[in-house]
This record gives sequence, structure tokens and C-alpha cells, in this order.
Amino acid sequence: MTPLERMLMGRIEAQGPIRLADYMADCLLHPEHGYYTRSEPFGAGGDFITAPEISQMFGELLGLWLAQCWLDQGAPGAFTLAELGPGRGTLMADVLRATRGVPGFHAAARVVLVEASPRLKAVQGTRLAPHAVAWADTVEALPDAPLYLLANEFFDALPVRQFTRAGAGWAETMVTVEAGALALARGAPAPVAALAHRLADTRDGDVVELCPAAAPMAQAIASRIARRGGAALVVDYGGWRSRGDTVQAVRGHAPTGVLATPGMADLTAHVDFEPLAEAARAVGARPHGPVPQGALLDRLGIAARAARLAQGLAGPALAQHTAALHRLTDPAEMGTVFQALALLPPEAPLPAGFPS
Ligand code: SAH
Repeated sequence: MTPLERMLMGRIEAQGPIRLADYMADCLLHPEHGYYTRSEPFGAGGDFITAPEISQMFGELLGLWLAQCWLDQGAPGAFTLAELGPGRGTLMADVLRATRGVPGFHAAARVVLVEASPRLKAVQGTRLAPHAVAWADTVEALPDAPLYLLANEFFDALPVRQFTRAGAGWAETMVTVEAGALALARGAPAPVAALAHRLADTRDGDVVELCPAAAPMAQAIASRIARRGGAALVVDYGGWRSRGDTVQAVRGHAPTGVLATPGMADLTAHVDFEPLAEAARAVGARPHGPVPQGALLDRLGIAARAARLAQGLAGPALAQHTAALHRLTDPAEMGTVFQALALLPPEAPLPAGFPS
């Protein structure tokens, strides 16, 4: 039994079942026992590998995408270059290296990272040195300035509430204790205002998820972009309009039970891009996409960049590089499961890689 499991069971026995979202929140970010607070999840020796850790090409292309948006909007003289949930800092390191040649970009950029884990903040600071970087505790605390922002596999780490349709109401997925172990249960069906519009496209027994933190964050980002200019690119696995149980746990690169080892496994849920796009639209920004990651990287020129990098490689390094390209773009790998949503001011030119 993990320390967090013992703690959660004690709390549930004393106070009753908790929402799945509250369980996820403790598993991921409990100050002492949370997954991101205590462990090193990334890379081959960890639990999962993300796109920037697969190849430098991912961060390079996203960095140049941001810089192109910045140029398109008249290269504002002081702007925030932000990333949400930067993990080991690899994506931002690649962004900064790739944009070194864009005249004026570094001089005007103030790098701000939104990161909840003190341990990862330290890793990011070391990784990005000697660049000066600052941290903001929340998206709302980002400076009121033109905002150029990336978020890769960030929104999938935010806790979701989960509901099963029951008549005109919804039964929430709860975590309880049964026979001395954590167990999933369903609460009593009740109306949920935020799901009123889903009564039209669901039937009894259908499962939908809500990420309470996601839309307010999208709104805070989009309102800066609408008022001050900028661009945001959100890349994550997910789709348009949540449907089904997508909460999953991964440990050591293999799926495990959501309740199996609280605090020791990564817990994620598919990102529903619809509420992000709608929240952005509501404050005057324009959403573009989502488009599949593979298509976006193709349109941004990953084949040419891969060929250029391949010239300096041979043997196992070349094979690894070729495999990385495949992994990032192939529809059977990350190419279509991962989607990219862009948020821009309505009057800005269409961003690279987005057809509308
Ligand atoms: N973007 C990185 C890491 C993804 S893992 C990559 O692609 O490799 C998710 C990251 O988000 C971690 O850095 C985690 O600590 C951070 N995170 C999770 N929930 C957060 C929250 N509520 N606020 C800020 N950071 C959070």
C-alpha cells in the first residue's frame, strides 16, 4: 500500500467517498506524495515519453511557429514567452535554441513557466540556464502583456470529474473504500448544469468527463491574447467533445489500474478541446483547429528538418532519429491521437499549419 493510499483510505472512511477529480488531484500533486512532486516520470527510465523528449524537432518547429506568429503580429517589443507544465524544460530549451536566429525575439521575450511541482521547477531552472526564467503559480498570474504560449501534455494532467448518464441526471464517479481497498463507485444521479447541453447527444449509460480547471485557464490565456496580442498552441491527446471513460494510469511505460498505486503512476484523461475553444471565443480570441499533430508537423516542415539532421547521423543514432520522426507523425503512433489547438486574436493572419 502506498503512503497516499493509506492517507486517502483514512479520509474516505472518516468523511465518505471523494470525487474522481479529487483523487486525481492528490495522486498528481499532493505536496508530499504526489506523482509530479516526488518522482521522475519522464524518459526511458521513467513512466512515459513525451514529444519533446522524443526529438528536438518537436520543440524547434513549435518555437518557430510561435516566432512566426510574433512576426505576423508586428514583433511586439516586450512579450511573455510562456509554457504550461514544462516537465524537464526540454521543449522550452529547444524553442530558445531554434529561435536564436529570429532578430529581436530573444531580446523582447520574458520567459515565464507555469509549474506546480517545486522539484520540476528546479529541474527546469537548471536546464534553461543561463536564460533568465520566471515562474508563475497559475495561468491567471501570467503578466498582462502580449502572450506567446505553448502547452504540451499539460491539460491531460488536470483532474476530471466523470459522469454516467442516468435519465435526465448524471451519476458521478466516486472513489470509495470496499473490503479494505480503494474502489470506484457511482454517486446518486443528479442534474449537472455544466452538462445540460449533453442531454441532447448522449443516452442512458453514456460516460462524459468535465475538466473544471481547463476552461478558466483557456479563458485567462485567450483574454490576454485577445487584448494584448499573441498566440497559444495547445497540444494534447484528446478530441472534440468528451465521450467515454478516458481516465488512465501509466507506470513504467505500461498501463496500470487507476486505483492501483496512488501517487506512483501517471494519471491522465483525454483533453476535450471544445470547452477550451469555446472559452477562448467567449473572451474574443479565435480558435483554430484542432488539427492532428502529424499533419501540423508535416506542414511546419518536419521532413526537411529531419533530412537535415540525418546528414550528421549514422548507425544507431540515425535509426533512432528516423524512429523518432515516425513516432511523432505516424497516424498509428502520435500523429492523430495528439491534436493541436491554436488561439489567436481574430484579426491575426492564419497561423502556419492551420488551414482555417
Ligand atoms: N510538457 C512536458 C511535461 C508534461 S507532464 C512535456 O511535454 O514533456 C505535465 C507537466 O505539468 C508536469 O511538469 C507537471 O508537474 C505539470 N502540472 C501538472 N498539473 C499542473 C498544474 N495544475 N499546474 C501547473 N503545472 C502542472
